This record gives sequence, structure tokens and C-alpha cells, in this order.
Amino acid sequence: MLQQTQVKTVIPYYKRWIARFPSLTSLARTSLQEVMKLWTGLGYYRRVRMLHETAKRLAINKRFPETASELMTLPGIGRYTAGAIASIAFRERVPVLDGNVIRVLTRFFAIKTPADSTEGQKKLWGIASTLVGANRNPFLSKDFHPGDFNQALMELGATVCLPDAPRCPACPLKSHCLGFQGRNPEKFPVKARKETIEKIRNYALILRRNGHVLIQKQSLDERWGGLWIFPFWKTRNEMMRRIKSSAGARQALLSHRMTVHHGFTKYRISLEVFELKEATAMRQTTRKMGLPLLESSRSRPSRWISTDRLKFYPLPSPHRKIAEDISKHDS
Ligand code: SF4
Repeated sequence: MLQQTQVKTVIPYYKRWIARFPSLTSLARTSLQEVMKLWTGLGYYRRVRMLHETAKRLAINKRFPETASELMTLPGIGRYTAGAIASIAFRERVPVLDGNVIRVLTRFFAIKTPADSTEGQKKLWGIASTLVGANRNPFLSKDFHPGDFNQALMELGATVCLPDAPRCPACPLKSHCLGFQGRNPEKFPVKARKETIEKIRNYALILRRNGHVLIQKQSLDERWGGLWIFPFWKTRNEMMRRIKSSAGARQALLSHRMTVHHGFTKYRISLEVFELKEATAMRQTTRKMGLPLLESSRSRPSRWISTDRLKFYPLPSPHRKIAEDISKHDS
């Protein structure tokens, strides 16, 4: 849950999660749809699909791997997560390297190699490994806990060595920190690629029929795999073309309802939400009569549901905002 997400956001989700899934077996036995419903709002849904898959595997194996290299064979567990679990839970001397640790290390050692380059990553993993004693560091005491060390490094980056305004005077590392001594810690980490934020506009449609709205489940290989969304198009033209060619869908009944803003990695997305009242689009239509507004298939089933049942479906955050708006105005 903590990957790409702040602790304060995660806490209520974590509490609900642990109350509902107190063991790996309980998670493994629950349907993916129900599991995703609990995750709704946290985003990056690939994580929850992988977590569920991992729980199923571990429930069969009946043994929890205790080393980072074993953990990395599980779905969705990369070097960072494996290092965090193995060092914190099993005291394995393996490193973690996230954005916070990268910031602390590059500033402390004044590393000029771009942190997002292959060479920079190799160097940073190497330093983090040495510090945590992966190569039998003789200076570490017997009581040294690699998990505590890793957590301290991450915490230092999150609370003291801040991205724009590091709190160097309060930092326990200041007397040895090269970034601080050079009076320019903010220039680290050096990056090879300049991050650009791309603004895009997408389109969603609320289709109503007899007090019901249409939603569609995304297939697992799609961005919101396993979640339900309102009919969605990347461009307005695609949406209009589909409406035009659909039997029972009359453009005259189309109205703009709202704009939902959301971010995703390097994208800032404006989702324009339109509404089409009394569409008969999902009825079977022949090509001559026109296309259905939304094709339903086994991997991407569509469903007309009454608006008061929307809350029972796992929807990604922007589509949940649409559902909340519908519920608010329909009740
Ligand atoms: S002294 Fe400043 S730059 Fe160096 S690690 Fe501490 S907070 Fe970061």
C-alpha cells in the first residue's frame, strides 16, 4: 500500500484491510472483486491484483519466504519491497532504495551521477548494500537491526531531508554530509531525464435507462483491470462517433455533466463527463440498425445497475467521483 502513497493516506485503508483480512488465507479465499473494492481510492491497482495473486500462491505453499531473493519470485514484489520485508521482518541485511533514500544518499555523498540512470541506480544500490551490512560490514554491532536502519533512512528522507527545503540544521547527519557542506543539497539527486507533466482530456458517458446506469468491467490487461468504469473514450470524436452510430442513442439528449480532474504518474487528466438519458444502446442491434454503444464481452462485461448499487462496485477514483455525484443528485 505504501508504494507511491503517503503513510497518512494509507492508514485508514490499512486498518480496514487488516480487519477484513487478518490472515493471508482470508485474503486468498476472497474474490478479486471484493478485494479491489477495499482498495478503491488507493490507485495503482496493479499492486492489489499482484498482492491477491501472491496471497493465493502463499496459501498453497503454506510457507512465507524469508529472504529477499525468494520474495522477489512472487508477483508484484520487486527489489525494494523484498528488501523492506526481508530486512524489517526477518533481519536480513539487504538494502531498500526508494525516493527518500535516494535523496539522502545522493546528498550525503554528493553523487553527481544521475540517480535515474542505470549507472546511478547501480551505484546507489551498492552504497545502500554496504551501509546495511550486506557485505559483512565489520563496523556494525551485533545488535544492528537492518530493518531499523532501512526505516530510519527512509524516515530521514521523508521528514528531514525534504525535497525542496531540507532541514539540515536539525539533521543528525549534517556533520558528515557533503551536500550540506557544499551548501547546495537541493541540487541532488541529479536527474538525467527532465520530468514533464502531460495534460490530457478523456471522455466518459453516463448512460441511463429505466433508472439504471451502464458500467463496464475492465479486462485484467488494462490500466484499471478488474475495476468497473463508466463507458470511456480517449477522444471526444470517438465518443461522438459511437453515439451517432448507435441505435437508440440520440445526440440531442446528450449533456455535459461535470469535469473530474485527476493525476496519474506524469499525466494530469481532465475527464469530461457527459450524460445520455434513456439510451437503449445495450439492446442487441443489427449492423443495419446501428452499433451498440458499448460492446460487452466475456473479458469486458457490461452491466446495467440501479444507481443505489454503484457503491458495491470497485470503481477507480475518477469514476467513483462520478458515481458519488450520481448518488448525491439521485437520492
Ligand atoms: S544534512 Fe541536509 S542534505 Fe544532508 S542528509 Fe541531512 S537533511 Fe539531507
